[in-house]
Amino acid sequence: MSFTSPHLAALAPYTPGEQPAIEGLVKLNTNENPYPPSPRVLAAIDGAARAGLQLYPDPESRALRGAIARHHGVAPDHVFVGNGSDEVLALAFDAFFRQGQPLLLPDVSYSFYQSVCRWLDVAVRQVPLDEGLRVDLAAFEATRGQNVAGMVIANPNAPTGIALPRGALERLAQIHPQRVLLVDEAYVDFGAESATTLVARHPNVLVVQTLSKSRALAGLRVGWAIGQPPLVDALTRVKNSFNAYPLDRLAQAGAIAAFEDQAYFERQRDAVVHCREGLLLQLEDLGFAVLPSQANFVFARHPVHDAAQLAAALRARKVLVRHFAQPRIDQYLRISVGTPAQCEQLLQALAACLQG
Ligand code: PMP
Repeated sequence: MSFTSPHLAALAPYTPGEQPAIEGLVKLNTNENPYPPSPRVLAAIDGAARAGLQLYPDPESRALRGAIARHHGVAPDHVFVGNGSDEVLALAFDAFFRQGQPLLLPDVSYSFYQSVCRWLDVAVRQVPLDEGLRVDLAAFEATRGQNVAGMVIANPNAPTGIALPRGALERLAQIHPQRVLLVDEAYVDFGAESATTLVARHPNVLVVQTLSKSRALAGLRVGWAIGQPPLVDALTRVKNSFNAYPLDRLAQAGAIAAFEDQAYFERQRDAVVHCREGLLLQLEDLGFAVLPSQANFVFARHPVHDAAQLAAALRARKVLVRHFAQPRIDQYLRISVGTPAQCEQLLQALAACLQG
């Protein structure tokens, strides 16, 4: 006997990176920000906790959408918000990609996309990255005229960290103008060009961003999408069929404050980028080949040492990095950029592992 629907057996749930409670752990496995959020965010959350928690939050998050709209220089009706960008992505897949045709995804990208596709019965057609693990524009161009459900590009891509320039995204938007091009910009603030400025002239472009990485608020769960009103309205219809209040009062208040402290944001973002550049060179000194990263992580392989074994050896030394047992990338380690002290601990542990 089974209580579950047949659909359940076909799911392939996403496995998030570990969040172990180990004291002294150097946690470089989930691309979190190593710095705390702005003190203004904490003050705003504190204020919100003391006023009105007995009341439902604004289901349309109007004040927050206004803050995000100002940040991007768009009208508030171009902004949709959700409980982390994962939720925004899932709602977008539901709204736009259940077309009965395959969705185009790079073969190496954020694996959550595939989990959502299984859940929503969206067929996937993988478009291989080129030999440098870059998104292959020509391969996407070759699908022109074919029936597809849409396209999803993480920019910078995960877990490679490699970014496409805005012009390339614009070309992608023009391949299937009747279908949505979803650009997942979870890591865009660390050095890539945002596609949000394409939204005004491309009604099929939807750009998704998050507070989780560059604004150090992974725990608050706030993500958003920028698109023209028909796309935003479609997302709102799906949201209200599922959960009318995805963002609680604390999240809305904290998120608004995050956009009000631009100086803090820039300072700690710059610290991460600076540390990334140093880490990249030092990994190369240890013999690693490192992909060029525009994100808050680096993707590196050693010509001799097996990546899974290295990840395990690092773990034994209380340094957590991410390894994906997946074709094409199983010899890479994805290492989040931490504080300078954490990067130093990582490098020392790695040097010891390479000798051992
Ligand atoms: N997109 C990409 C490419 C990611 O790596 C992540 C984080 N795992 C997300 C989206 C989701 O981030 P969040 O739900 O925290 O906004």
